[in-house]
Amino acid sequence: MRAFVLGREGGGFRDVPDPQAAPGHAIVQTSAAGLCHSDLTLVSRAPGQHPFSLPVVLGHELAGVVVEVGAGAGEVQVGDPVVGYGPRGCGRCSRCSAGAENYCHGRATSFPLGLGSDGALAEFVAVPASHLVPAAGLPPAQAAVMTDAGLTALHALNRAFAMIGRPPLGLVVVVIGVGGLGHLAVRLAKLRGATVIAVDREEDARTLARRQGADQVLGGEGTAEEIRDLTHGRLADVVLDFVAHHSTLELARAVLARDGVVSIVGVGADRLAVGMHALPLGARTDLPFWGTRPELHQVLELARSGEVEAVVEELPFEQTPEAYRRLAEGDIRGRAVVRM
Ligand code: NAD
Ligand code: ZN
Ligand code: ZN
Repeated sequence: MRAFVLGREGGGFRDVPDPQAAPGHAIVQTSAAGLCHSDLTLVSRAPGQHPFSLPVVLGHELAGVVVEVGAGAGEVQVGDPVVGYGPRGCGRCSRCSAGAENYCHGRATSFPLGLGSDGALAEFVAVPASHLVPAAGLPPAQAAVMTDAGLTALHALNRAFAMIGRPPLGLVVVVIGVGGLGHLAVRLAKLRGATVIAVDREEDARTLARRQGADQVLGGEGTAEEIRDLTHGRLADVVLDFVAHHSTLELARAVLARDGVVSIVGVGADRLAVGMHALPLGARTDLPFWGTRPELHQVLELARSGEVEAVVEELPFEQTPEAYRRLAEGDIRGRAVVRM
């Protein structure tokens, strides 16, 4: 079958063997696969820097239909529309038992979907049946995008609000980077009743933020001052940085209120200095990764009800290289999703 793989020479199409339905696994025929900025970071690494072996099929946002079920795969049935829960834990530790395989304390049995285990950018993918979640009632592109962009945005917000320890109604949330994840974070924060200030350097990303319900939309020079003015000096209770470039981290620091939470979701190469006088008094920092199983169900339900809708650009599978190139150039609004 044709697949878009990460190999020693970078990312590209290859013919690879069809996956087999090992015990406990199901074969999913991919309907839609979302393209994440994290894939670009993976592809930019030197081959020796990966903890997993190459080549490996990329794509960690999977929606598809079960076409084959291996022995002992439980309740999964051929014909089921499903999405993949991507994190992979040991399945036995306290975190896995709580549905948070994204923070497994044990030894994972495999690498995450599309991030070391073969992923969604192929006609078929073998997935542990335990990591498939029913996705009936959702268009495949929406379902796919909820598994990472939606899930990670929801998880980051849930953690930040829990750290604040007050109901989110009326809290000021600054979202930096209104891309695949950020545009859903804007919507999710609005649903919880927060006042949302969205920041992006691209004009049409700012337009998207407005469409998702942001109360204020900013970008460019003087953003920190504008946020200070808009909040009458109160500043932001929560800052979500979906970029992690030194300029965005500096903005996060400059607009964070005392006792606020800065959540660094982006995997940019730069670092936030933490220490007395480096951040406001009482500041909390978070480094959320992906999300939990209950949160995946939660965000799929929000998508089903229409309360959350991803803005997607659907492209044929053959255009995967071009879509990644455009993502790297900042030329995708919302999420690019390839259709098989
Ligand atoms: P994206 O490319 O779709 O969105 C990034 C947005 O940030 C774009 O709108 C872009 O215009 C904007 N931007 C970039 N640089 C900026 C700057 N200097 N100032 C203001 N705006 C800027 O990316 P995405 O797929 O939404 O991913 C966002 C980040 O989150 C990436 O770093 C990705 O690797 C990371 N990520 C982390 C997790 C996690 O679990 N922590 C999960 C998924 C993705
Ligand atoms: Zn991702
Ligand atoms: Zn575990």
